[in-house]
Amino acid sequence: MFGARKKKSTVMILEPHQFNIVGVLGNTQSNLLLSVRQISLLVFMLLLGASLSVQSAVVDRFTVQNNAQNLNLVFHLDARPDHKIFKLTNPDRVVLDLKATEIAHGLELQANHQAPIDRIRYATRADGLLRVVLDTSRQVDVLDQVRKSSSGFELVISLRKSGVIQSKEVKVTSVKAAPQQSKARTQVRHYRDLIIAIDAGHGGKDPGAIGKKGTYEKDVVLKIARDLHGLVSKEPGYQSVLIRKKDVFLSLRERIERARNLNADLFISIHADAADNRKATGSSVYVLSQHGASSEAAKRLAQRENAVDLLGGVSLKDKEDTLAHVLLDLTQRHTQDVSYAVANSVRAQLGEIGALHRNRVEKAGFVVLKSPDIPSILVETAFISNRADEKRLLSSKFQKKLAKSLLMGVKNYFYKHAADDTIIAVLRKREHIIRSGETLSGIASRYKIRTTSLRQYNKLKSDVLRIGQILKIPVSET
Ligand SMILES: [Zn+2]
Repeated sequence: MFGARKKKSTVMILEPHQFNIVGVLGNTQSNLLLSVRQISLLVFMLLLGASLSVQSAVVDRFTVQNNAQNLNLVFHLDARPDHKIFKLTNPDRVVLDLKATEIAHGLELQANHQAPIDRIRYATRADGLLRVVLDTSRQVDVLDQVRKSSSGFELVISLRKSGVIQSKEVKVTSVKAAPQQSKARTQVRHYRDLIIAIDAGHGGKDPGAIGKKGTYEKDVVLKIARDLHGLVSKEPGYQSVLIRKKDVFLSLRERIERARNLNADLFISIHADAADNRKATGSSVYVLSQHGASSEAAKRLAQRENAVDLLGGVSLKDKEDTLAHVLLDLTQRHTQDVSYAVANSVRAQLGEIGALHRNRVEKAGFVVLKSPDIPSILVETAFISNRADEKRLLSSKFQKKLAKSLLMGVKNYFYKHAADDTIIAVLRKREHIIRSGETLSGIASRYKIRTTSLRQYNKLKSDVLRIGQILKIPVSET
């Protein structure tokens, strides 16, 4: 975390160089090419002028989640962790270093021998570094993720259960390994999936609009959301999460917070429209209005003294007014531009399968669209109050068609604009640059293709990979 000293940050804002950054962001074209992560970097740069203060973090809880694909170790911390993770071999182990971190008194880190972990060891060094060593029964793929939680932060270390790395495969060894480290030291870094948060509107005690035949909006939109979830999950480079999986009530703010905790790249809220005029028909796509964005900014700025609010991992809490305002404004403007572009792309696809209610993307102050840092759109799929639309909404064929066109709209946008650290960007170029720690089978599974296809496509004579080597990625077989 970065604590800005008031005087310094004021001076920094007045530097012409900083205004250049703001100027670039004001240009819509450049704006669309920036990812939320790049915005975080800008935010970081804006804050570099301010003094840095090292804050210690405390692990106050440790939980182990075992699911079909992964064993997840969750470190619950009271502050954002500053961590590094890497693998060592012979014997196989994963090492997690957390800077300036303590373990709460009496807390023990234990996984009770859940595969692939044999044992967890840990110790705090004199300089405050907490080192956690996971002794594993074999080589494993590891992913790390930091997410915000209600009580602070969660560092999730996911050990992949499937895709066991075969012994005949050769691991890439980092050329930058420190001399005192084992030669087999490898770093864990991957291109990332885009995360799509799918929100089925209403639910539980809130049925949403009700059709003439008694169709509940909450039911049809959940079906469309599930269809979309199924489609997105099959796409290489994408992960999708349903904000509500079943017929439950969630507040609008809770929906936003769930998407933000997931670090989603896009939030799609799915609804069905209703109007007194029973003739009203067709689909609409909404983004947040300027008024909605401004009032949200005012609200977040007003609340920042009471609650920790984060933008790209940076707290607004201790920022001087002008700086906090600039940070929020930069982030919001980027988010709105991306939302608008995605909305247009989705709207174009909806126009292919049915009528559009209006001739443009619409803007409104819907609360659910108010994430300052996650591009968000709301889709009114059709009018449940219209007899013909209601009938179509009830048909599973039309539900699937809607899901398909939402997917196409999303894909068309991200294919052109996904940030360089994403799998989609790699698929666009169809080139994967080998990083340390990667294996052929690991890469194949990331792109949802077979190892043999990858080997043949690149005419590889062996599975030995070099750092910096470029592999061509064939079109997915799924
Ligand atoms: Zn609705």
